[in-house]
Amino acid sequence: MALLVQKYGGTSVGDAEKITNVARRVAATQAAGNQIVVVVSAMGKATDELIALAQSVTKSPEPRELDLLLSTGELVSSTLMAMALRELGVASISMGGAQAGIQTDTAHGRASIVHLDPARVRRELDTGRVVIVAGFQGITDDMDITTLGRGGSDTTAVALAAALKAERCEVYTDVDGIYTADPRVVPSARKLSEIGYEEMLELATYGAKMHPRSIELAAWYKVPVLVASSTQDIPGTLIHDVDNGGNAMEVSNKVSGVTYERNVARITMRAVPDRPGVVAHVFEPLTDAGISVDTIVQNASAERLTDVSFTVERADLVRALEVSSRVASDIGAADCVANDHLGNVSIVGTGMQNAPGYASRMFRALSDAAINIEMITTSQIRITCIVDEAQVNDAVRVLHQAFELDTE
Ligand code: ASP
Ligand code: MG
Repeated sequence: MALLVQKYGGTSVGDAEKITNVARRVAATQAAGNQIVVVVSAMGKATDELIALAQSVTKSPEPRELDLLLSTGELVSSTLMAMALRELGVASISMGGAQAGIQTDTAHGRASIVHLDPARVRRELDTGRVVIVAGFQGITDDMDITTLGRGGSDTTAVALAAALKAERCEVYTDVDGIYTADPRVVPSARKLSEIGYEEMLELATYGAKMHPRSIELAAWYKVPVLVASSTQDIPGTLIHDVDNGGNAMEVSNKVSGVTYERNVARITMRAVPDRPGVVAHVFEPLTDAGISVDTIVQNASAERLTDVSFTVERADLVRALEVSSRVASDIGAADCVANDHLGNVSIVGTGMQNAPGYASRMFRALSDAAINIEMITTSQIRITCIVDEAQVNDAVRVLHQAFELDTE
């Protein structure tokens, strides 16, 4: 008998029929002799609708109230799932995040789990029930309900799997695994049968549809995560500790995947005085405003003046520009200019760190396709180029081809 945590995304529980279909799958897995915790997202676009509803009442909803409101989306799907299971004759119980013992800090809208006491969940499992937990939420010491950030149900699922020492966390979605590239952009993309945590973290941070924090958590607690289809019975992708050393001889292609993001905006602060502390001045107010900054490039200074460029999500551009224009005048920089139609494309692979030449191959492939590179950033296992948004699809396709990802 294995203990499994299964997570179903919003599309997979989008209406009553889909909920019943998921319930059937859960029932079958239980009948095969497993204990199951099910974590659900809100139905379909429920979270977006709740946000829109809040915004129709006020332009700036209070974070505490917004979190309590958003938490109801997952309460709806989890209670319905419990009812659907009962209808099939399966004993079940639903719980909000708080009831499942998920304790968070007070950062409304992007709370972190600080403690998870799974005692109640375990007790219910031991009576033979399937436990359904509302994803994406927890509770503070002060009994305020928090949410974990958009996409946070993945993190709920992995956290429960870790706390319960589950055999595996299974994430069922409308994509049936992790691909070498988004199949909607690259039809010849291949599904990976397995991938390591590190690579998956880079893919998730730069476009693949999983909450990056869930991968961090899985890596930390060594929880194997299976990503698979919620409707079809076909093999998915297992995210786990891949031992690259063991089969290094066979790994001729060291890029595992190409990923992308649209909706990237860049701000350039021009003629920034080059003295200690200035860059801290630029970024602290952005952090305080809850704006996350991705790529940062500071030029070498000419005559003690330098340009600092950074990217943010397009949705944050207006606020980021407000904040940084204020900072620019405080520190005596010339001004801030923005470009709001950028995207990025990345190649990811653990093998790249010990092999030179990947960057130049990437730049050559982009240049052969007449794609201009606006900015470049790298990690040990990733190279990212910021490009014009209109060229993102082309960039993904040429890189997929250049690194021969369509062949095994
Ligand atoms: N319902 C939440 C969202 O849409 C959390 C999730 O789906 O994981 O972001
Ligand atoms: Mg999701």
